[in-house]
Order: sequence, then C-alpha cells, then structure tokens
Amino acid sequence: MSLITVVGSVNRDFVLTVEDLPHPGETVLARRFVEGVGGKGANQAVAAARLGSRVRLVARVGADAAAILDALTAEGVDVEAVLPDERTTTGIAAVVVDDAGENTIVVNPGANAELGVQDLPARLVRSPGEIVLVQNEIAPEVVAAAVLRARDQGGFVVLNPAPARPAGPEVLAAVDVLVPNRGELASLLGTEPPATVDEARELLVRAALPCRAVVVTLGADGAVLKEAHSTDTMHIPAPVVDAVDTVGAGDTFCGALADALGRGTDLPAAVERAVRAASYTTTGLGAQTSMPYAAQLDAPAV
Ligand code: ADP
Repeated sequence: MSLITVVGSVNRDFVLTVEDLPHPGETVLARRFVEGVGGKGANQAVAAARLGSRVRLVARVGADAAAILDALTAEGVDVEAVLPDERTTTGIAAVVVDDAGENTIVVNPGANAELGVQDLPARLVRSPGEIVLVQNEIAPEVVAAAVLRARDQGGFVVLNPAPARPAGPEVLAAVDVLVPNRGELASLLGTEPPATVDEARELLVRAALPCRAVVVTLGADGAVLKEAHSTDTMHIPAPVVDAVDTVGAGDTFCGALADALGRGTDLPAAVERAVRAASYTTTGLGAQTSMPYAAQLDAPAV
C-alpha cells in the first residue's frame, strides 16, 4: 500500500448545472445543485485514497468544517493534520457547468490562505520514498517549503502547478514529477498553450524544465510525458468517453498518479493509469462524486 502526504486546499464545492453559462449581467436557472467537498488538496487526497493509498492531508479549514472532516475521514483520508482555523471560513468554490461540459469556477480561498509553513509536519516524509503531492491553491512560500522539505527528507515530490503561477528554479529542481495542464504549462513557460499533442511534445523538448519529469495533461488527448534524462516524449492517449463534466479530472489524474507511483509503478505506466482514472471522472457530475475506486478502474470496460 502506498503512503502519500497531500499538502493543499480544502473547499466546500457548490456545483450548479445549467443549459448555457450565464453572460455578464445575466441570471439563469440551474437544473441541478450538488454540494460536496472539493479543493485540489482534498480532491487529490480522495482520488488516491479511493484507489487504495494511505493518504494524509495537510490543510487548513474554518470552524464550519465538521461535516467536511467527517466526509474526508469516511473516504479514508487521515485528517489529523487538517487544522481548524477559528478566524475564518473553509474555502468555497462556486462551480457552474453547462450542457457542453464547459465550466466556470469562482473560489474564495478562506482558510486555505491561512495555511502557513509552521503548519507543515516536521516529518513530512514518514518513510523513504513517500509521495508528497502539492498544488498551488495555498501560499507560494508553503508550496516551496513543502517541496524542499519533502526533497530533503527523501520523499518523492509531485507538484501540480494549479492554478498557474510562477515557480522558482530551486523549487522546480526539487520536483520529481511536475503535472501541469496545457494552460498551466504555457503559463510556466510564458508561451501559448499547446493546441495539439505534437505541439505539447515539441514544447516539452524545448522547455528543459529543471524537474525530473513533466507530465502535461491534454484533456481528451490524454497526456504527454517527458523525462529529463531523455530527449524522447511519450503520448498516452485518453480513452474515448462520454464526458459530461471535466471538473475534478486534473485532480483525479494527480491523485491516481501519486497512488500508482507510491506502489512502485514506473512513470509511463503510472501516467497511463492516471489518464484512465481522470477520464472516468469526466463521465459523472462533480469532482469527488465521480472519482473511480480501484475496482471500477480495473474493470475492462473503462
Ligand atoms: P484539467 O482538468 O486540470 O484542466 P485536463 O483537461 O488536461 O486537466 O484533463 C486531465 C485528464 O482528464 C486528461 O489527461 C484525461 O485523462 C482526462 N480528460 C479530460 N477531458 C477528457 C475528455 N473529454 N475525454 C476523455 N478524457 C478526458
């Protein structure tokens, strides 16, 4: 069983489905409403836990988070290091999804913005090679501290630079696997997002990022992997699915990748499993509600 520590955000997700996304100034009626636990940190923790990993989450929530902590615990996520912050409320994400599967999301960071370097466990890596999975929905200095501490303690660092923001070369050099989507990769490199698989391959070869490997996710096109020691890239296509809502796809990808890597799966095979897990998530509404369990992923139909 793999041991994973996720350092990141926890949100209350309010997901509304509509026929068409509203234009500025317009009011539209929702067809459906679902409230759930979200935030990239919590989502990725749940994705990995559903696939069988032992996952610890390091995060901050507001005083309003009892139900969220219960829900995460029920998913098998260790919430001992999820600290309640009485001064603020849990992060909130208002997600609107239209019939075409397009979405808009507004996030209020709330307690996520209060997670500090002092909140990181002294032993971030509990056993050699433990996967430490980090995203950008917390303060940059906390991301940097978590990545560097994990590297120094002999962990295996996966950084999902979402949402996009600049990262210093010292931080990137301590990352084993960087997992941006096409927009985040473009933002990191100061270029246009790659429109095709070939453009993504070329960009990764030219980019020479200092991390050990980069996996760029490309929506329905799957993902492209580039390892630093090689000039080759590898395209892992996504299965053709009836994608109804891509919310949570990137998070499922990261959680599933961490789960597979923690089991000692090699990187190409771990990316292949992450692609399948993420594609599965797009077939259902919401983020965590549609994340697969190991048995569903192993079923031959997916
Ligand atoms: P993000 O949601 O972070 O923007 P992507 O859109 O790149 O990330 O999607 C992440 C992964 O989700 C992809 O690598 C793929 O496995 C899966 N995915 C997303 N959209 C689709 C789709 N339309 N069909 C099949 N798989 C998809």
